[in-house]
Amino acid sequence: MPELPEVETSRRGIEPHLVGATIQFVEVRNGRLRWPVSDEIYRLSDVPVLSVQRRAKYLLLELPTGWIIVHLGMSGSLRVLPQDAPPEKHDHVDVILSNGKCLRYTDPRRFGAWLWASELEGHPVLAHLGPEPLTEVFNAEYLYQKSRSKKIAVKPWLMDNKLVVGVGNIYASESLFAAGIHPDRVAHSLSPEDAKRLTQAIKAVLAHSIEQGGTTLRDFLQTDGKPGYFAQELQVYGRAGELCRQCGTAIKSGKHGQRTTFWCPCCQH
Ligand SMILES: [Zn+2]
Repeated sequence: MPELPEVETSRRGIEPHLVGATIQFVEVRNGRLRWPVSDEIYRLSDVPVLSVQRRAKYLLLELPTGWIIVHLGMSGSLRVLPQDAPPEKHDHVDVILSNGKCLRYTDPRRFGAWLWASELEGHPVLAHLGPEPLTEVFNAEYLYQKSRSKKIAVKPWLMDNKLVVGVGNIYASESLFAAGIHPDRVAHSLSPEDAKRLTQAIKAVLAHSIEQGGTTLRDFLQTDGKPGYFAQELQVYGRAGELCRQCGTAIKSGKHGQRTTFWCPCCQH
């Protein structure tokens, strides 16, 4: 599943091709995604793209009359291609641009979304989202205060979009390892010092992944955006039974709800 770093990498990849270009029309080959592609998107004609922004894992294409909200779902990806590139089976949406290019959306599992919003304020998919992890609003004091009444394990707590957006399964495990915090710790047991290490770890892990994505942007835009893309950088995620790179202890795995968690029993408390 594309996580926040992959979505931000996609944003940076498509932005220079879209901003300043005009959308001539949008060709929807299969509009049956997680929700049906909004009618307004089918009707777009001769509209300039003003900006390409991101909120959580939603890409936001700003047009003079409103916004296209794109979510990559479980398996979606975006590529910028010449308009004559022949579409393949899972290429469901093409945004035809005035500069001879097209923005092509591919999504084998069709859990993604293409929605229209005349304004973003109060839109159902964006309302109730917590702060962006790489902004100053998300800081140690914020995390500590939010943790005071929480009796759930810190790992699933971090993955709650109302607390902070974009900390998915991989990055929750990786950040807790970097902060030396056991994923089973009850959230309200965090000390102010723990909260400080954890916010710093979340920011560092996400920023590093975005940076990695940026260095191989060309490759990224031609692949399916699987998180395995960053796999060689991972310390604990997907490494059960392998040795911790810091202390040599075997990495453990377990479940929080449906999601698998990975940790080092020696480095994390
Ligand atoms: Zn270790």
